[in-house]
Amino acid sequence: MTGLARIIADMIAEDGPMALDRYMTLCLSHPRHGYYMTRDPFGASGDFTTAPEISQVFGELVGVWVAQGFAALGAPRKFALVELGPGRGTLMADTLRVLRKSQEAVKAAQVHFVEMSPVLREAQATRVPDAIWHDNIASLPALPSIIIANEFLDALPIRQFEREAGQLFERRIVAEGEGLKIVKLPSAFPLSARGEGVWEDHSIREAFTTALADHLAKVKGLALIIDYGHGHSAFGDTLQALKAHKPCAITDFPGKADLTAHVDFESLARGLAKGGLKKTALMTQGEFLNAMGIEQRTAVLRRTVSGEAEQNLVAASTRLAHPSQMGQLFKVVAAASRNIELPYPFGAR
Ligand code: SAH
Repeated sequence: MTGLARIIADMIAEDGPMALDRYMTLCLSHPRHGYYMTRDPFGASGDFTTAPEISQVFGELVGVWVAQGFAALGAPRKFALVELGPGRGTLMADTLRVLRKSQEAVKAAQVHFVEMSPVLREAQATRVPDAIWHDNIASLPALPSIIIANEFLDALPIRQFEREAGQLFERRIVAEGEGLKIVKLPSAFPLSARGEGVWEDHSIREAFTTALADHLAKVKGLALIIDYGHGHSAFGDTLQALKAHKPCAITDFPGKADLTAHVDFESLARGLAKGGLKKTALMTQGEFLNAMGIEQRTAVLRRTVSGEAEQNLVAASTRLAHPSQMGQLFKVVAAASRNIELPYPFGAR
């Protein structure tokens, strides 16, 4: 065994079988071997791609939403435009391009990035040089804020339990021979959900969301959270590893494959409410992008290109919004602090 697998095997020898939240944290964020700490994982040569990398239209429509958000905040002289896990900085660059159409909004905006990866911080700095970086949300400024997160929460760790014939187990990692594997061990976890199968515990994400909502309730503002997942808590195993755009076992390449689990939007809403953000709304990514005018924006951009580029542009928009592609699985949650209206298309519902 080498690298992170060795380190994890040593920890297991010391402390016993490892819960999946610990395993995910080490795989994604170990300072030397963590997946995000060492690479830019996006695009054809990477492991996966995300909406802002698929088309500029995505970030532009988020930009339109942010412009409305700025108005909903009462056009403050200064506000924090925060992004959690900005990847390559593409979404923010596209968002800012749209925001520049309003001198007032772009002058007021101060960009803050919450990013743990030194490699990705560099990529972000080439696209958004004026950003201010944070390791976590604790140091975000006390300014009215608009917080955006795309495919961030799915990277926060979960635990997995499994109920079988009325008995509860936890899925944990053990070392075996030259590798790692998952085993099921009897568990006394107080799982209140009724039913059988794999249950994912989102406590860490919920606590993070509550902390985020606490902050936003204090400074006032809006959040727009986009990710893939299910609208209601349910049994099911959604933990997945991706390497070179192909699924692999989560124990195959510790630190070298992306690990994510679907977002439980019911638990997310609970986390937001606990932190004092009672006003939330959810829609699918397809509904959101259609309402924000993805067709119209694509039609305008089409006039600037032809041939293969034009086909790619149209295919990218379809990929983002069509229910059979990203349109249905991906969901968009908007949240507002007290006395602030949720901008269109949420408020309109
Ligand atoms: N939003 C981008 C990237 C999504 S990948 C896009 O849509 O393309 C997840 C991003 O979150 C990466 O930038 C990763 O480094 C960052 N990230 C993951 N976990 C994090 C954590 N706990 N703290 C800070 N950043 C984190």
